[in-house]
Amino acid sequence: MAYPDKFTGFQVNGPETWTEFHKNQFDPKPFGDYDVDIKIECCGVCASDVHTISGGWGEQHFPLAVGHEIVGKAIRVGPKVTYVKEGERVGVGAQSYACLECKQCKNDNETYCTQQLDTFGSVWPDSGIVSQGGYSSHVRTHQHWVFPIPDGLDSALAAPMLCAGITAYSPLVRNGCGPGKKVGIVGMGGIGHFGLLFAKALGAEVWAISRSHAKEADCRAMGADGFIATGDEGWAAPHRMSFDLVLNTASSFDGFDLDAYLSLLDVHGRWVSVGLPEGEGLKVRNQTFLANGCFIGSSHLGSRRETLEMLSLTADKGIRSWVETMPISAENLSKAVQRLEKSDVRYRFCMTDYEKEFGA
Ligand SMILES: [Zn+2]
Ligand SMILES: [Zn+2]
Repeated sequence: MAYPDKFTGFQVNGPETWTEFHKNQFDPKPFGDYDVDIKIECCGVCASDVHTISGGWGEQHFPLAVGHEIVGKAIRVGPKVTYVKEGERVGVGAQSYACLECKQCKNDNETYCTQQLDTFGSVWPDSGIVSQGGYSSHVRTHQHWVFPIPDGLDSALAAPMLCAGITAYSPLVRNGCGPGKKVGIVGMGGIGHFGLLFAKALGAEVWAISRSHAKEADCRAMGADGFIATGDEGWAAPHRMSFDLVLNTASSFDGFDLDAYLSLLDVHGRWVSVGLPEGEGLKVRNQTFLANGCFIGSSHLGSRRETLEMLSLTADKGIRSWVETMPISAENLSKAVQRLEKSDVRYRFCMTDYEKEFGA
């Protein structure tokens, strides 16, 4: 097969028609010495896709193919690539560039680099080309953001780890999740389910915190030691000051009682939010932190080192993501984003069967 100089992907034209996907050709950025071209095999469906194409996060560069939980095969590697071999099965997540020279980049904090670029919707500084995501035939990515996938991990189960998984994993390990710690996970969507799986695998006592009891059986099957439904009267009081860390993955702040959640934390306990709800956000007052002196923070994705650690932990402990697969097509992408918008998924969609749609 001739090597493609254009890639093909399912693009959305704008927020007015965000549920309509069109199969188009587009130019990738010029191939660099450290780049890897990947023929995509599958791609998870992230809430970021929905927030981006529906306009919830503001102006974007359309037409745009979203998707940033990519697994595929490295079919071409640049002359300076050392992390990846041609033919290897690899993954790409939500980030595709950082300077790799600043203080943050040199300290495993490349997701916080001021020059970081996203896998889709970013403008490449030299060419002006807009980066396109994983609902596409191929993706071209700098080796630093290309991760070999351990043998034995199913591609469709590994893909959702590259955004949802690492978004949960990094703040857990950075905030002391492990044996002897009690950890709460708020919000049982894609990120939250990985929070439970990883916190348990890291050896912590882990509790799921959800609005109703609807997902209790699933959470216990994922390894939750306890379950709290915030719809229950007086839900917070019995658990006051008992948690070391609470990871908040909720994607909406409707009816969200932050003071009640923070009351769960032990002295100097940590509340780390990784969901990115649309809208104005929450107001906080100093009084909110006073009773336990708790800390409130956030976290953005995770470093290359942490991504590789997460994938090894997954392979070593046999962690299995809960994934619903769908063959990629314009129609199925439309279904997937609409169902995700209604949180109607247990617990992550992954688009598959790329060869049928894009050819071998
Ligand atoms: Zn940097
Ligand atoms: Zn994502």
